[in-house]
Amino acid sequence: MATDTNAAPAYQIIDHTFDVVVVGAGGSGLRATMGAAEAGLKTANISKVFPTRSHTVAAQGGIAASLGNNTPDHWSWHMYDTVKGADWLGDQDAIEYLAREAPAAVYELEHAGVPFSRNEDGTIYQRPFGGHMQNMGEGPPVQRTCAAADRTGHAMLHALYQQSLKYDADFFIEYFALDLIMEDTPEGKKCRGVIAMCLDDGTIHRFKAHAVVLATGGYGRCYYTATSAHTCTGDGGGMVLRAGLPLQDMEFVQFHPTGIYGAGVLITEGARGEGGYLTNSEGERFMERYAPSAKDLASRDVVSRSMALEMREGRGVGEDGDHIYLHLDHIDPKVLAERLPGITESGKIFAGVDLTRQPLPVTPTVHYNMGGIPCNYHGQVVAGKAGDPDAVVPGLYAVGEAACVSVHGANRLGSNSLIDLVVFGRATGLHLKENLKPNAAHDALPSDSAELALARVDHFRHAKGGTPTAKIRENMQKGMQKHAAVFRDSKLLSEGVELLAEVNKSMEDIAVSDRSLIWNSDLIETLELDNLMAQANVTIASAENRKESRGAHAHEDFPERDDKEWMKHTITWFDGWGGSGGAMRIDYRPVHEYTLTDDAEYIEPKKRVY
Ligand SMILES: Cc1cc2nc3c(=O)[nH]c(=O)nc-3n(C[C@H](O)[C@H](O)[C@H](O)COP(=O)(O)OP(=O)(O)OC[C@H]3O[C@@H](n4cnc5c(N)ncnc54)[C@H](O)[C@@H]3O)c2cc1C
Repeated sequence: MATDTNAAPAYQIIDHTFDVVVVGAGGSGLRATMGAAEAGLKTANISKVFPTRSHTVAAQGGIAASLGNNTPDHWSWHMYDTVKGADWLGDQDAIEYLAREAPAAVYELEHAGVPFSRNEDGTIYQRPFGGHMQNMGEGPPVQRTCAAADRTGHAMLHALYQQSLKYDADFFIEYFALDLIMEDTPEGKKCRGVIAMCLDDGTIHRFKAHAVVLATGGYGRCYYTATSAHTCTGDGGGMVLRAGLPLQDMEFVQFHPTGIYGAGVLITEGARGEGGYLTNSEGERFMERYAPSAKDLASRDVVSRSMALEMREGRGVGEDGDHIYLHLDHIDPKVLAERLPGITESGKIFAGVDLTRQPLPVTPTVHYNMGGIPCNYHGQVVAGKAGDPDAVVPGLYAVGEAACVSVHGANRLGSNSLIDLVVFGRATGLHLKENLKPNAAHDALPSDSAELALARVDHFRHAKGGTPTAKIRENMQKGMQKHAAVFRDSKLLSEGVELLAEVNKSMEDIAVSDRSLIWNSDLIETLELDNLMAQANVTIASAENRKESRGAHAHEDFPERDDKEWMKHTITWFDGWGGSGGAMRIDYRPVHEYTLTDDAEYIEPKKRVY
């Protein structure tokens, strides 16, 4: 790639020293920040957007915990549903931790100021959600999802931001984290801090820290249509891959059944929880055929596949038969106004539909990344070492959608992400509290600590190729949309691997026109694309590699789940930076087929039917 020969990489570096640096101010990052700061650790939070604009703000439906307010419930039922929802790829020790800690985490949010919707008796209102059942999966559906109307994430972010400020965490807002500072030691890689750029003035900030927590959210934007915000570019995953560490289970991408047709904007599963249902062009409630028991509240992968099959078999609605109807028009408008006000508005704005009278056109839309940075239930990142699959990377943690704990395995249940954010955000805070002393001395950083980050910024800032960032991004997104969709087959996937390698190669010819350092969105979008590109390549390669169907990975040439060969986590390394061909390496980690305590029984794999 051509670069300006006279470009002086005169970057001003400003140094900071903290006990803990959290990158990301969504629900998970804020909960970890709050925990570390509360423990007296000197804590910084770096966020590329204002905290309350993080994607968590868009979470509508709610947060799962077995409070048992509206129906009987028990944490072991929540654990069972999560293991089954994950299609037995989740780690059962971590899932036990999630289900057991969930009620306390929700009460903590309540006390922190989240204005949950209420039942008549004053308890927190809970609604049904897909895949959540009573009696160890036997049914009927359980009401487990705690909701603040359809603005649960919004309410959580505000409460958690306030709490973090209360404990005196330092916020670096509109700072873009570029890369981790890693050190090679005889025991392996160790994280020493992070380098970030202040978007306002282009100054470079070097954060020395005993621990870095990556809470950067998902990478939904490597697809053309996604419910995720444009900021969901997987920057943490990109940093981890550049640090020579792998990402885990990246082939598992969740399609939400009800994105608004065309716009991709989400209609929460809470809509079906409140009684909404899907119909095809014949007016048939087709979910009764695919999931006789759970029907429209089967888990997301099942509903999305059923919709795709209906459309494929010519029963889609609309001129091109390319969407499905979601009906809420039979629900009392008073209930809609009280429990689903946000989506009533979205229906009007994005589909021009009055939900109280008309069905809403919807289609399965990319929504959530089950895969991410491999870590244990304390948030510690694991390195994917051969022979020592649970060895951790000292100083590095990951939480939230960026992480793969793995509690969601091959498919996440609705409302299980928000609870994952706070349970593991809290667990990370606790682990930091137990393992770090406030203001402990730091060793000097390696002399090349800023080199990787600065070389990369400089490279893209002066890129003089012929293809604009937006064009390469579109090629990547369209490629992913076509080749790594709801249904996959060997031909589509292997063509996809080649196509994505080619699109990655075109990064050599990228054109960035703004050379300034003041709010250079051209440069930042390019750095984000670089992160997305690596993860798009890793996703499609991992998908091509997995020769079975499990959860969200529906492989038409291998339609059955194959526990004997494939009950294992994929871990994938990437070394194709700057267009150098997309070199990747794939290995595996065993699934934790054991529980955390004797209170929980290991849930034996069986066929997943709803
Ligand atoms: C529309 C929608 C609705 C949803 N509804 C629900 C629901 O009802 N229930 C549920 O359980 N789940 C829901 N989910 C999923 C859930 O909301 C997300 O998985 C979760 O909020 C992600 O939180 P997070 O803390 O991991 O990251 P995010 O909230 O995505 O935040 C990421 C943070 O990282 C920061 N960041 C990223 N990169 C950088 C960088 N390079 N430098 C500095 N900062 C950076 C951002 O500024 C941001 O603060 C929904 C998701 C969507 C998209």
